[in-house]
Amino acid sequence: MTHSVAGRSVVVTGASRGIGKGIARVFAEAGARVAVLSRHREEAETAAAQIGGGAIGVSADVTDEASLSTAAGAIVAAFGGVDVLCANAGIFPQAKIEEMTGAEWDEVLGTNLKGSFLSVRAFLPALKVSDQGRIVLTSSITGPVTGYPGWTHYGASKAGQLGFMRTACIELAKYGITVNAVMPGNIRTEGLADLGPEYEASMAASVPLKRLGSVEDIGYAALFFASREAGYVTGQTIIVDGGQILPESLEALSSA
Ligand code: NAP
Repeated sequence: MTHSVAGRSVVVTGASRGIGKGIARVFAEAGARVAVLSRHREEAETAAAQIGGGAIGVSADVTDEASLSTAAGAIVAAFGGVDVLCANAGIFPQAKIEEMTGAEWDEVLGTNLKGSFLSVRAFLPALKVSDQGRIVLTSSITGPVTGYPGWTHYGASKAGQLGFMRTACIELAKYGITVNAVMPGNIRTEGLADLGPEYEASMAASVPLKRLGSVEDIGYAALFFASREAGYVTGQTIIVDGGQILPESLEALSSA
């Protein structure tokens, strides 16, 4: 499976750290040429250098059509095309409904949901001429499946990505492009690691597999959707959460 992405051109938005960097690393290890996108060029370039395998760092803001268009042009010039777009960039500030401003709502929806749409549109001309066009969205369990206080806007954006996907996959099927989504549970990123081992242990306790996910766990799921072998899979989701959503109660979790 991993061989079918070797030599392919892959763009990962939000890849200077966290899940996106893990996705980028997994694709690079599978032999793909990877473009690491984030708003800050220096951080994108540093991440690309750490990933290796000819990865390049490019700056783009997924809320800004012009910067995405410039990035798309630069990547097509560098790689000769784009076969896979992993629309992963996202933000998750917390605010409960009673305190949240309209601007805070707009920022989260603008980055996570509209940003996915703008990313797809910017790379669509390149994906259309690929013979293995793939779009992989990073959604979440939060929103589509679960809830978490302070994340009404975030949950709406992550559920919205799946609504976007289910029509995008129909519209883009005529170009042979598939559109699928990975739904991570609690993943161990640099930001989470900073919160300390006690916080991490309490989070892991709610997961049947008793650990948080790694960024590579998400990368492997994205790699499957991007593979040639997954060419007949479109409009689908895969939950990668160590079984987190399954226990129906604390009793169910502790009595296993
Ligand atoms: P993270 O560690 O905070 O990294 C976010 C990445 O996105 C960074 O590279 C950041 O770089 C970039 N970014 C943020 N805003 C951007 C924008 N407007 N344009 C371009 N790039 C932007 O986040 P993460 O935890 O890896 O999350 C990545 C994705 O996974 C998100 O979609 C999130 O919803 C989803 N997710 C995460 C978890 C989890 O447990 N971590 C669980 C479920 C889903 P710059 O700041 O340089 O732009």
